[in-house]
Amino acid sequence: MFDDSTPKANEYCKATLLRLEFLALAPTPQHYELIYAFISGRLPQIKAEVDEAVRSSTGLTPERARVLYEKYLGADKEKLVLQSNVKSLSEELARVMALISDASDGTTQFTQTLSGFTSNISKPLSVEELHKAVNKVVEETKSIALKNKQLQEELSKSSEQMNLMQEDLTRVQKESITDPLTNIGNRKHMVAELKRMVTEADDHRTPLSLLMIDIDHFKKFNDTHGHLVGDQVLKLVARTLMENLKGKDCVARYGGEEFVIILPQTRLADAQRVADTLRQSVAQKKIIRRDTNTALGAVTVSIGVSQYHNGEKRSELLKRADVGLYLAKGAGRNRVVVQDMDAATIAKLTEGKKDTHAFDELDSDD
Ligand code: GH3
Ligand code: MG
Ligand code: MG
Repeated sequence: MFDDSTPKANEYCKATLLRLEFLALAPTPQHYELIYAFISGRLPQIKAEVDEAVRSSTGLTPERARVLYEKYLGADKEKLVLQSNVKSLSEELARVMALISDASDGTTQFTQTLSGFTSNISKPLSVEELHKAVNKVVEETKSIALKNKQLQEELSKSSEQMNLMQEDLTRVQKESITDPLTNIGNRKHMVAELKRMVTEADDHRTPLSLLMIDIDHFKKFNDTHGHLVGDQVLKLVARTLMENLKGKDCVARYGGEEFVIILPQTRLADAQRVADTLRQSVAQKKIIRRDTNTALGAVTVSIGVSQYHNGEKRSELLKRADVGLYLAKGAGRNRVVVQDMDAATIAKLTEGKKDTHAFDELDSDD
């Protein structure tokens, strides 16, 4: 109970011996311990009672000293030790509870238990009561630890769920803009990317070009080799386009056997070069039928190229590339045609022609 440092203990020892002499008490171990406790002030109850006895008419007699010793330091001395343990336990409990209540709202019950408990220990308690109180603190601490664990588990469970939900959302979002056959972007993706990239080109006055790509005589290819082999060719063309482009470019399957590529920060002449590289790459691929191991000859593509004119409708950009594609087909296929006519000339050129698309959906703002 007394764990003072040597200088402190020396000081208390001298004062204790002087006080014993002054009170005319024999320096027995019991008297010494009682007065040492009084001098050090460690146990406030002893200090109060010794003071009271000294001030009384009889003074601190050996008989009174024995009673006080028995009460506070004899067989029952655990009472005081327990009481100080309970105090530090309840203080620790209060600290833990403050920490938990900072983290959650569900601690009202604990706060009530604690305040009931703290008011209990301000009264003198029997050893049994103190044992009960300490057990209660231990129980409460355990229960708080449990609740805290539950709280932590709940938090980690809900964050796990949120992560899963987020992953699901990302997957669904990705699926909605991906072409399942070729695994590149679909038409929806291209429409959204075109809008975003055109805005960027307008804002920063940067060039932007677009390629419209169509597989040549694909109907005949399908008719000759079957739809499944045709699907493999679509995948091969998509892969070849991807292999030859930079990360910021957008590659999409616009429909059937048609692809669109958007090239941000790219001028018409550069776009034309890119288009020709792509055309040659596709033409160089050897198509081999896996089941029969026979060569099916080359597949070629025709490409129309256009550059965005700041402020024009997105459909006009597509229309020009489509006219380029139409002209490439007419000129014999497996070629690239750059198209930079103005909208009025294009309108005249495409009037009544079924082979060119309507691109009005691209101008929608939603
Ligand atoms: P052109 O050189 O003028 O473009 O001739 P083409 O035969 O390629 O053009 P057309 O528009 O007449 O035919 C397109 C063909 O593309 C028709 C269809 O069989 C094929 N096709 C479109 N989508 C798919 C697909 O998902 N899988 C397969 N295997 N074929 C497709
Ligand atoms: Mg076509
Ligand atoms: Mg075609």
